[in-house]
Amino acid sequence: MVINEIFYSLQGEGRLAGTPSIFVRLAGCPLRCRWCDTQYAWSPTAGIAYTPEQLRHETAQYPTRYIVFTGGEPTAAEGLASFLRAFVLKRMHITIETAGLVFIPDLPCDLMSISPKLSNSTPIDPRNAKIHDAQRLNHEAISRLMEAYEYQLKFVVDATADLDEIAQCLEQLKRVDPEKVLLMPQARTKEELIAKSQVLAQVCKQTGFAMSPRWQVLLWDGQRGT
Ligand code: SF4
Repeated sequence: MVINEIFYSLQGEGRLAGTPSIFVRLAGCPLRCRWCDTQYAWSPTAGIAYTPEQLRHETAQYPTRYIVFTGGEPTAAEGLASFLRAFVLKRMHITIETAGLVFIPDLPCDLMSISPKLSNSTPIDPRNAKIHDAQRLNHEAISRLMEAYEYQLKFVVDATADLDEIAQCLEQLKRVDPEKVLLMPQARTKEELIAKSQVLAQVCKQTGFAMSPRWQVLLWDGQRGT
């Protein structure tokens, strides 16, 4: 499996926000989201090939039992299950961060962190936009992931107009637990995050959905590997 980067930080988002965690960023993502902050991991060859043993050895130095497989898009990585199994033996808590493009059964995973992509993520470039929009929202795959795994649904909100789209998406997904839905502001800088968080906080009060922080933006302006 090709790994783009490995780093130790705090989980920035979702219900485990603030938890010291090892991040394993896998190479390769077909979506090309407009506001993606990890474009350097888009190519499936953007990294170094690891074996599960090499990865286990390299991550053993960090004082946490939380490990996050992120991307890129981890479900697009070949051999994902065998890498995850290497950490089950060590009783690690495994999170997979995914856009929910495909359903994969029987993965060793404690938290499937699904971020369904709304139209605010569509690339400007028409060719990329076509590829993106053909794949970005697979309700069937997301529903099956929600049934098979402990999950959270994280929506990136760029403007309040996105709320209608979120409501439509939740309607199409089967049996969503509203307590597992989190909204987070689309922001790539600390200033943008603070400004949008104030607006989103009001939205969360109205809708009853929780707001997710984005500690990686607030603390480190989204700087790579922090
Ligand atoms: S799915 Fe994630 S990694 Fe892939 S382009 Fe979108 S934001 Fe970036």
